[in-house]
Amino acid sequence: MKLKTPYYLIDEKKLLKNLKIIKKIKDVSGAKAVLALKCFSTWSVFELMKQYLDGTTSSSLYEAHLGYEKFGKEVHAYSVAYSKQEIEQVREFADKIIFNSISQLKMFAGLTSKVSVGIRVNPQISYSNFDLADPAREFSRLGVIKKKALQEISHLLKGLMFHFNCENDNFPNFCLNLDYISSKYGKLLTAVEWVSLGGGFYFTKAGYPVEKFAEKLKEFSQRFRVQVYLEPGESAITRAGQLVTTVLDIVRNKRDIAIVDASIEAHMLDLLVYRISAKIEPQIKKTYKYVIAGRSCLAGDIFGCYGFPQKLKIGSIIKFADAAGYTMVKKNWFNGLQMPSIAVKRLNGTIDLVQKSEYKDFVNSLS
Ligand SMILES: *Cc1c(COP(=O)(O)O)cnc(C)c1O
Repeated sequence: MKLKTPYYLIDEKKLLKNLKIIKKIKDVSGAKAVLALKCFSTWSVFELMKQYLDGTTSSSLYEAHLGYEKFGKEVHAYSVAYSKQEIEQVREFADKIIFNSISQLKMFAGLTSKVSVGIRVNPQISYSNFDLADPAREFSRLGVIKKKALQEISHLLKGLMFHFNCENDNFPNFCLNLDYISSKYGKLLTAVEWVSLGGGFYFTKAGYPVEKFAEKLKEFSQRFRVQVYLEPGESAITRAGQLVTTVLDIVRNKRDIAIVDASIEAHMLDLLVYRISAKIEPQIKKTYKYVIAGRSCLAGDIFGCYGFPQKLKIGSIIKFADAAGYTMVKKNWFNGLQMPSIAVKRLNGTIDLVQKSEYKDFVNSLS
C-alpha cells in the first residue's frame, strides 16, 4: 500500500524488541509494568502490548477510561488533582488510585473504599536533564514531601508511588537513589503492599544493564515485601515509530532549507518544548547539508540540520525517527495543517492505515 504523507508509522517488530526487554525485567525481578498512556495512547497496537504489559497508568480521567476500554488488565489512575465528579467516574475504571496530595486523599477517602489507594511521594531527589521535567524541582507540586505526615496516614495507604526519573540511562545513579529511598522511607515501605517506581528508566538504550536493573528491583521488592511496579512510557516505545514526510519546497537563506509537509510545532511538539532536534536515521555519507523545516508559519518550526548522501528534491521522503512517544498524544491543529495519518506495520509485514484525518476533524476540534 502506498501511503500519503504525512503519516506516523508504528512498527510492531521494533515495538516488540522493547516489550521483550520489559518482559525480561519482569521475569527476573517479579515487578509488574504498566504503560504510561500520557506518552503513548495509540490503542491500535495495544493488542500486542498487552501480551507483555500488565495494564496502564494514567494522568487523567480520560486516560484511565481509555486504559480500561482499550487495554484492559490493571488500570492505575493518577492525577495531579481530581474533582469529585472525576473520582466518582474514575473509581469505576481503576484498580488503583494514586493521589498526589494528602488533602486529596482525605477529601475522597469516603469515595474510594473499593479501590487500592496509594499516594505519590516526592523524595526530593531526581534524575532529569530538563528542569521542565524534573519532578523534584524547586517548588514542585508533584507528590508529598513531609514524611511525618505520610506516616500519620499510612493506615489509609496500600501503595506508594515515586516517579523521580526522566530518561535515566545512568544505572549507578538509579541504585544510589533507590538506596536513598529505601533508607529514608523504610518504615512506610514495609507498611504498604505495592510500590510504583514510576517511569523515566531508559532501559531500552543500547548497553543498559537490564539484568542488573532487574536484580536491583528484585532486591528492593524482597526487602520490603512489596509488589514493585514500573510505569514505562518512552522506554516501551523507543524507536518504534517514525514520522514520514515529503519535501514540498527547498529555499535558501545562507543555508539550504527543505520544507516538509509536517510541522514540529504541531506533530512533534515535545522536541520543540525541550529544544532538541528530531532524529533521522543515521546516514553513512553526509555530503549535502540541509535544514529540515516544518510548514507552519512559526519561524522556529525547524526539525533540525542534517546531512544527506544526495541532494534533496521536491518529493524526497524524509523520515524522522523515534516519533512514537509524546508525539501523537500532543498533536494539534495549529495553522490548520493536514494532520498526519497513523499507520501500523504489523508483525507479519502488512501495513494498516488506522487513522486518517480530514477537514471535518479540524472543524470538530473547535466550535
Ligand atoms: C510521565 C510519567 C511516566 C512515564 O515516563 P517516561 O519518561 O515516558 O517513562 C510514568 N509515571 C508518571 C507518574 C509519569 O508522570
